[in-house]
Amino acid sequence: MLDTVIVGGGPAGLTAGIYLLRAGLTCALFERQFVGGQAATTNVIENYPGFPEGIGGPELSLKMAEQAQSLGLDIRYDEAERLELAGKVKRLTAAGRTIETRSVILCMGASPRRLQLKDEERLTGRGVSYCATCDGALYRGRRVVVVGGGDTAVEDALYLSRFASSVTIVHRRDAFRAQRALVTRMERTPNIDILRSCTVDALFGEEKLEEIALRDVTSGKTRALPADGLFIAVGMEPRTALAEGQLELENGYIRAGEDTRTSLPLVYAAGDVRTKPLRQVICAAADGAVAASMAALDLGA
Ligand SMILES: Cc1cc2nc3c(=O)[nH]c(=O)nc-3n(C[C@H](O)[C@H](O)[C@H](O)COP(=O)(O)OP(=O)(O)OC[C@H]3O[C@@H](n4cnc5c(N)ncnc54)[C@H](O)[C@@H]3O)c2cc1C
Repeated sequence: MLDTVIVGGGPAGLTAGIYLLRAGLTCALFERQFVGGQAATTNVIENYPGFPEGIGGPELSLKMAEQAQSLGLDIRYDEAERLELAGKVKRLTAAGRTIETRSVILCMGASPRRLQLKDEERLTGRGVSYCATCDGALYRGRRVVVVGGGDTAVEDALYLSRFASSVTIVHRRDAFRAQRALVTRMERTPNIDILRSCTVDALFGEEKLEEIALRDVTSGKTRALPADGLFIAVGMEPRTALAEGQLELENGYIRAGEDTRTSLPLVYAAGDVRTKPLRQVICAAADGAVAASMAALDLGA
């Protein structure tokens, strides 16, 4: 039986691994996709201390994983499909196998919210994207649309304006939530067209996205806009399905304080998946460190 199992290999999970191993605990980390999580999908991270010129998201992610693996972290590229969190012996099922552990650190992070349009899933990867920094370069010289009104949407529009021939940003309200400085930069960018009080109502295209239907919220009128790419940036959803019915949640996030302890003993939630005021790499890494230290303390290690 392991001392700890970590679910999720983003900044929170990788940092938890580093701290657990340095505390002499046995552990395994399960990651269903790639290490770094959301951090690995961003072009550059400019606010993580120690990198005055910024660092690429994938590069920082690989460095974190390398550091954890150099200490002996067992990273298993499998999706955790089921968790049994109550009781002294906790169980995780992945790839048809169940392993037992004394404690669990949940670091499943969050994922982008969908618009819930009829053809959205079908056209995802065929013009519809949730990550401008991942896919932006594919749209060099093309017409793209960004949906959303927060920092991410405006940052995406600015980033895409470097590649695309035209960027249209569509926001359902008449004012952007994004930082003022970002909005001003966007307003001054010649190839960004800003549509306020407007929604994307439908997507069209057979093999790939060709056109979107826009609706003016005030007049109710719809019109078609040809588009090669649609970047959806309308918020995040915590990945808490594994914990539902077992742990207390708040607004969909796992309820946990600064000590990362959840409503069950020896179960911790670290990073974007837990209730917290700021969701950033530094906070996720900090949570991972705290969760590992709390696990070591609670296990009497
Ligand atoms: C486009 C973008 C740009 C960003 N830019 C910045 C920035 O410049 N600076 C900054 O500080 N922050 C930035 N962030 C936010 C930052 O990336 C996140 O706050 C941080 O990655 C959260 O780390 P995490 O470990 O909590 O979760 P995540 O990074 O979401 O990682 C969670 C991991 O868990 C895995 N997982 C989920 N469920 C399972 C399962 N059942 N089994 C196995 N694995 C599972 C996922 O595959 C994922 O790898 C950005 C985020 C995005 C999306």
